[in-house]
Amino acid sequence: MSGDVAARATEGFRQRYAAEPAGHWAAPGRVNLIGEHTDYNDGFVLPFALPLRTVVAAAPGPDARWTVWSELDDAPVEFGAAEADEPGRVDGWAAYVAGVVWALRAAGLDVPGARLAIASDVPVGSGLSSSAAIEAAVLAALVDLGGLDLPADRWPRLAQRAENEYVGAPTGIMDQSVVVRGRAGHALFLDCRTEEVEQIPFDLDAAGLAVLVIDSRAPHRHADGEYAARRRSCERAAATLGVTALRDVPTDGLDAALARLDDDETRRRVRHVVTENQRVLDTVALLRADRVRETGPLLTASHASMRDDFEITVPEIDTAVEAALAAGAYGARMTGGGFGGCVLALVDADAAEKVAAAVTTAYADRGFTAPHTLTALPAPGVTRLP
Ligand code: ADP
Ligand code: MG
Repeated sequence: MSGDVAARATEGFRQRYAAEPAGHWAAPGRVNLIGEHTDYNDGFVLPFALPLRTVVAAAPGPDARWTVWSELDDAPVEFGAAEADEPGRVDGWAAYVAGVVWALRAAGLDVPGARLAIASDVPVGSGLSSSAAIEAAVLAALVDLGGLDLPADRWPRLAQRAENEYVGAPTGIMDQSVVVRGRAGHALFLDCRTEEVEQIPFDLDAAGLAVLVIDSRAPHRHADGEYAARRRSCERAAATLGVTALRDVPTDGLDAALARLDDDETRRRVRHVVTENQRVLDTVALLRADRVRETGPLLTASHASMRDDFEITVPEIDTAVEAALAAGAYGARMTGGGFGGCVLALVDADAAEKVAAAVTTAYADRGFTAPHTLTALPAPGVTRLP
């Protein structure tokens, strides 16, 4: 068994249920290397799984009853088939667990009753997808405990349904895809239209590099409303241009497309999406050619596009990017939907601490709440722990 987080899940299980778990299942958080607000435009994203994980210790329980405890909340939550079968009946954090039970049952599977205890190193609500991590770890546990016949390529869709339809949070397929399918030393190239995935070598370790992830700690300001507004703007532009989605505007047709739009704001939104899709493709091409450092300028260009054209960054985020670049990062950008969340910077592994310190100093100079930082290498997706 690996590390403290699994030990915490075991300990929670023993205390709560006075028994030993039958096994442990772990699923990672994730960051998106590049490709922001491209998902709902049928475009491309390139996330990778983090070494931070959520661990579920679990054992079979009474038929069609589930009890779940998380270290985030003292009180365990118990529910049966009636609650699981009606989206919304279980609310709060346990909805992510009930949602997985619901999605599996809705797919016609005989989900085993279970007792679960959950511990996690993935920060909650920072944009590193603790939600997909808990979904995938619970799903893996239930599939194994029940001996369910469910190939792993169906897991992302079911976990996404749990989040969209049971919890009621509208998300694309990216988080669940990479949390399930992530591979050490690789990023996952995902075509959000076809849902085809490809493992792209991203061996930072071999290149002497690391990705520094900086949790900006910026309070989320109007994130939901702004997200909806960006989405509407993209959908309207696609309709005006007569395409299914902005993915269908080719890079070499961008100028012609922009000329057909009559307001400047919409033109900038479209320019972000079209150039961002191209940057994902360019990043993939560089990684395939083992030219990892050269992806830096693409990351930084992605940030400029989010700041100036899509207008989804905030002062803390821009400060972290500028400080990381000034301290020698090859590239840096906000990752995630925006208005808060995390920044990532591509750095020499032995410079990670220096870059993190520079960001912390820049934050202190401006009176921002100190950022949290971690150094990440691409890690595996969901697995059962030995
Ligand atoms: P993110 O996925 O960026 O961390 P979300 O808002 O999508 O943020 O998901 C966070 C929510 O997921 C939490 O508020 C909680 O309801 C649930 N969650 C995630 N991890 C855990 C955990 N270890 N224990 C209990 N609930 C969790
Ligand atoms: Mg989430």
